[in-house]
Amino acid sequence: MSLLPLPPSNLLYIALRRLCSFEMKMERATKRIRDDEGSQGGEYQRGEVWYEDGNVVLIAEGTTFRVHRGVLSQRSDAFRDMFAVISGSQPVDAEMWEGCPVVHLSDRKYELKHMLTALYDGKQYFNVRAKLDLVVASTMLQLGMKYQIDDIKQEAIECLSYRFPSRLGYFADLAKGVSYKHIIPIVALAWKFELYDILPVAFYWCSQMSVDELIHGWVDEHGTQWRLSPEDQARCLKGLSTLRLQCIKEWAFLLHGKPTERCADREGCESRIAKFGVKYLDGTFPHTETPLTHWWSMSLPRDCQLCRSCMDEVQRQFNKGRIEAWNALPTTFGISNLVQWTIE
Ligand SMILES: [Zn+2]
Repeated sequence: MSLLPLPPSNLLYIALRRLCSFEMKMERATKRIRDDEGSQGGEYQRGEVWYEDGNVVLIAEGTTFRVHRGVLSQRSDAFRDMFAVISGSQPVDAEMWEGCPVVHLSDRKYELKHMLTALYDGKQYFNVRAKLDLVVASTMLQLGMKYQIDDIKQEAIECLSYRFPSRLGYFADLAKGVSYKHIIPIVALAWKFELYDILPVAFYWCSQMSVDELIHGWVDEHGTQWRLSPEDQARCLKGLSTLRLQCIKEWAFLLHGKPTERCADREGCESRIAKFGVKYLDGTFPHTETPLTHWWSMSLPRDCQLCRSCMDEVQRQFNKGRIEAWNALPTTFGISNLVQWTIE
């Protein structure tokens, strides 16, 4: 935003409109004023991002971050506008902290820490492909949007697209340490920022939650309550029902399966396929598996002990059902009209 020849009050109004939730408390805060001789302790805690030569102090939830106006202004139009307003209209007795002007933000302190670290450390902070951190990714997306930091926003979107892909070839199990409930904040972000293509896989993982988690959600370590909307809860429950039917369909061929023409052990394979069919029917089949479970993580290849030819045929049939389930995933969760999906 270019600076217009408006009085400071108008500039402030424009900035506040643009930044929405940005809180710039420029009231006369006499009790908080600190002089240039420096002050320590007091009512704020020092955050992890603190540069002694910084020239502005950002405060979120009582935690201070001393950073550089130039660095933030270069990367973010929103910060640049914000600092321009402060420079132009700073009252003489405005709040200072350790010699720097103070800006209060409405963000959570951990969010601000992540964003400032990413700003100073660059893309390597994400380390997306090696180890995805959904909390970092979602924080980057929110603050990248809010403060108009394009590369952080884009990196966050790529990170989420990588983990919630629209191509079956990129679909992978949840990263270690991530449970199904951690996907709830991702669903909220996808709706908020219209990242619809990540929703089918996000809903797929949500549908694997326990009913308690699905209905009641959870509270994270920062005290934030996460819960799916009633509409999304319904999507997951309906989707789960469809996934179970697809799973039955995917494996049904085994009920009447025969050894292949090139079977190396007709008698043995016939007996084992029949035995597996019985397990399937009497409910001892591992129903924790879904139609999208990877072949290599299933118990069947280990348990069934078929000859190579018969196992290849089983895998071929399995992959056919898996692809059908994948292609139907947006429809399974009722969002096919919103999603650009790659049909396999
Ligand atoms: Zn065989």
